[in-house]
Amino acid sequence: MYIDVHTHGMHAERNKEGKLVPPLVPIWKKGDSMTPIEQCQKMGIAKVALLDPPEVAFALAKDLPDFFIPVPQVDIDKTSPEEINNLFKRGAKGIKFISPMYSYGDNRYFPIYDAIRANDGTAVFHTGYVAIGLFEPGCVLGRTDYVDITNMRPATLDRIGRAFPDLKILMSHFGNPWWEEAWKIISSHKNIYADFSGGTAKGKEMKVWKSLFTFEGKLHTQSIKKICFGTDGAPFIKESTDGIKKMIIFYENFYKILKVPKEIQKLINSENAKMLYKL
Ligand SMILES: [Zn+2]
Repeated sequence: MYIDVHTHGMHAERNKEGKLVPPLVPIWKKGDSMTPIEQCQKMGIAKVALLDPPEVAFALAKDLPDFFIPVPQVDIDKTSPEEINNLFKRGAKGIKFISPMYSYGDNRYFPIYDAIRANDGTAVFHTGYVAIGLFEPGCVLGRTDYVDITNMRPATLDRIGRAFPDLKILMSHFGNPWWEEAWKIISSHKNIYADFSGGTAKGKEMKVWKSLFTFEGKLHTQSIKKICFGTDGAPFIKESTDGIKKMIIFYENFYKILKVPKEIQKLINSENAKMLYKL
């Protein structure tokens, strides 16, 4: 059984130039085909976290509360501790950050992190490269300036881990492409977890991961047990189910090649997610 810590359910129309335009709406609603969702369930996916803007994440979670876990995405440069508190009152299980204008580790963001900690939620950080076409000025989730992906390096979470040792943190995409840096961060901070969601980590050869998680000639279980199952897929549309299946194959291959013990596989597949999202 898997709990997917990272999926999306947002949709926007494209204009004549092929650019996504507001509003962002849920890609699925009650009454739409259940087939792709049922296919995911057949593959063993029991629940999925939705990392989308609040209006999308909450709408979907309301329609299928047993399957969707709302983890609303906010603009870290515009949000406030009050907004964070309100999102938790509405049922958020965590808060997702992406494309900040400053380093995630900057002091200006600390009141936001403190509000998440006070609500016993999880701070989910997109780390590493971010796709073009969503966050550039004028785009559907446009920021005030062009994003600098080094603001989202795994190392930027180190300062947050030091300042907030009790804040649950999930590093999405394993820091793509700063894999070694991501490994060091989850190895060293007891409260920082990571996933392989997205297209890049799963495309690397397994020997990359075998080497990364081998330390002094042995399997480094201290870091492996901090991994979570995550896809970055959209479990409601049939175009996405193949990608989700490939991600399951990747994780199962990872277990096989690295000889990951069964009890650690269970942590990765579902138990870490249950802890992070209080399920
Ligand atoms: Zn994502």
